Amino acid sequence: MKLNVIESTEKYPFTLPALPFGDRDLDPYITSNTLQYHYNKHHQGYVNNLNALIKDTEMQDKTIEEIICLSAKDATKTAIFNNAAQVWNHTFYWHCMKKNGGGRPNKELLDLIARDFGSFDAFITDFKQAAISQFGSGWAWLTLNQSGKMSIVKTSNADLPMSSGLKALLTIDVWEHAYYLDYQNKRIDYVDLFIEHLVNWDFVYKNVNY
Ligand code: MN
Repeated sequence: MKLNVIESTEKYPFTLPALPFGDRDLDPYITSNTLQYHYNKHHQGYVNNLNALIKDTEMQDKTIEEIICLSAKDATKTAIFNNAAQVWNHTFYWHCMKKNGGGRPNKELLDLIARDFGSFDAFITDFKQAAISQFGSGWAWLTLNQSGKMSIVKTSNADLPMSSGLKALLTIDVWEHAYYLDYQNKRIDYVDLFIEHLVNWDFVYKNVNY
């Protein structure tokens, strides 16, 4: 199975990928203040850590997806997995949002969601619940399995669908650093506004067909 639209041939030294929107485009739902820390400090930090960890190792010849898969089940490579997965997760997360996003997907994607979740509204309810109920740091995802069936999964810390053989279609970062400056403890408000105003359904649809 091919992975995602963001799949890249880049290898060491990895660089921080450009944001797919301007730093005020997600205002007021995600402010430039949050982006400044989340993108320039957290995401950049994972890139820097990963480069330092794989310098002069066999991982220098691998893409980010290869590094994630090689380190996922290797207890001696936990730090590499955590940083590589967080680099990938954040790049994917940025693409899941756009200015004036939200609303509903196109008819084809809407029909697929209705087939697997009963209705679009039922999907939204389940996705929000996953994002709100993830205990501590982590992510909520819409995924696709090898048979083409969609499901919602939650992952802790850096973990991601790829390590379970699932294709990611959509994610929301529910680490506190993603929302605390704008919403403090009110994760539920961040999740609601992400769904209503930010989701880039065109990107989700591209992943389904990639
Ligand atoms: Mn984050």
